[in-house]
Amino acid sequence: MTNNKIIIAIDGHSSTGKSTVARRLAKYLGYVYVDTGAMYRAVTLYGMRLGLIDKNHFDKEGLVAILKDINIRFEVNPKTSLAEVVLNDENVSREIRTLKVSSFVSPVATVHEVRAKLVEQQQQMGKNKGIVMDGRDIGTVVFPDARLKLFMTATAKDRAERRYKELLENGDQVTYEDVLKNVVNRDHIDSTRVDSPLRKAEGAIVIDNSNMTLEEQFAHILNLVQEVLECE
Ligand code: C5P
Repeated sequence: MTNNKIIIAIDGHSSTGKSTVARRLAKYLGYVYVDTGAMYRAVTLYGMRLGLIDKNHFDKEGLVAILKDINIRFEVNPKTSLAEVVLNDENVSREIRTLKVSSFVSPVATVHEVRAKLVEQQQQMGKNKGIVMDGRDIGTVVFPDARLKLFMTATAKDRAERRYKELLENGDQVTYEDVLKNVVNRDHIDSTRVDSPLRKAEGAIVIDNSNMTLEEQFAHILNLVQEVLECE
């Protein structure tokens, strides 16, 4: 085994725990972790604040026109060691996780110009390898040559239950039914969009974690990583 660092691409359905496992893996390997969903959420939040997106309308052209004003970066919080999302110098890590942002993010992620801007930034972040990136198009579009590609899934019910608990813990007043609806709806939009639809990348290993504990899942994925690293 050499010290060659690799790119690990993790894609999959909404709320499959991609970020949790990716973050832990990056920490274990001493790699950088990038949550690309947070970037799409930050763009969505910016558009919502300008009144370009709400329940009744989505001003796509307006959003494209102000994309140049959006700057997104990640900043490690020294207290928690977690990477937090900074939108134009404002930490929006909490706000982007609300169900409201979740309900508008998938239409925003269908816009070609939004994807082009974020994909370019993501590719820059991975140019030195040593990165674990999670999202919907990492193995198919952002890093099609990633050395290890995972595709995570679980039943919609399992995923909605986990997400529901998380949102309640964050103080978001939501119902389980609304969370389930959001998870199913986002999967549908993400899988049927024209630009970079969510699908299993060629060569990706499927991980269905419906009946796996976090520990079992992490051990399984770490095994896969170590097998790959041994061949490097
Ligand atoms: O991963 P997360 O659930 O936070 O992603 C929010 C949304 O952002 C997804 O439902 C999807 O619409 C969009 N997304 C995407 N491509 C990515 C990451 C996220 O289209 N690479």
